[in-house]
Amino acid sequence: MVETSWDFSGSRRGFLKGAVLAAGAFGFPSILKGANALTLPALPYPENALDPVISARTIGFHYGKHHKGYLDKLNELVAGKPLADLSLEDIVKKSAAEKASAAIFNNAAQVWNHTFYWNGLKPKGGGKPAGALAASIEASFGGFDGFKKELTDAAMGQFGSGWAWLVLEAGKLKIVKTPNAETPLTMAGMTPLLTIDVWEHAYYLDYQNRRKDYTVAVIDSLLNWDFATANFEKAVKTAK
Ligand code: MN
Repeated sequence: MVETSWDFSGSRRGFLKGAVLAAGAFGFPSILKGANALTLPALPYPENALDPVISARTIGFHYGKHHKGYLDKLNELVAGKPLADLSLEDIVKKSAAEKASAAIFNNAAQVWNHTFYWNGLKPKGGGKPAGALAASIEASFGGFDGFKKELTDAAMGQFGSGWAWLVLEAGKLKIVKTPNAETPLTMAGMTPLLTIDVWEHAYYLDYQNRRKDYTVAVIDSLLNWDFATANFEKAVKTAK
């Protein structure tokens, strides 16, 4: 069993949240409006740790501007609404089901997808998984090369912005691609195990238009199989 230290269920400033309630009782909640906002999870490694596959400059913009931008926008959009009291995962799932909440969904799902992406990468990652996940890759894709080809094809086949994912569905591994902010998190029966961000902002500074070079480099050198294994084992256990 692989232990994970990541947690992005949606950390909140509990202390400040309490302060809002207290302030509300005295009739001046506006001072602390948005104080129960979701916070940006820390990167699991320094910004330059994925260099040279992904440069510190790319991570600086991608995490510090794009990821943070989605988070800030989300907090702005849910401020004062019942959704603001939910965990990030619940905001994603709830807003996905409501057409009127499309902007909230887009930003919430992008916050969730990016945290999942960062945790699915690690310095000196790549290589191949072991144990039950390796056996499942063999059974589902005919081997690691088959997996790598399908994931690369999905990354290349996603027209425009989006994501390529390794997911578990009904006990089988599958590769899926999603446009924009769409996420397997909201797809019934699907558990995401790993993802590759294929929005241009993920690779353009380092690879320009060469999405395939970026994708192959990420698979070969950065995928965090400990993270995927933990997600896999948890999903298998829950399904029993
Ligand atoms: Mn991105």
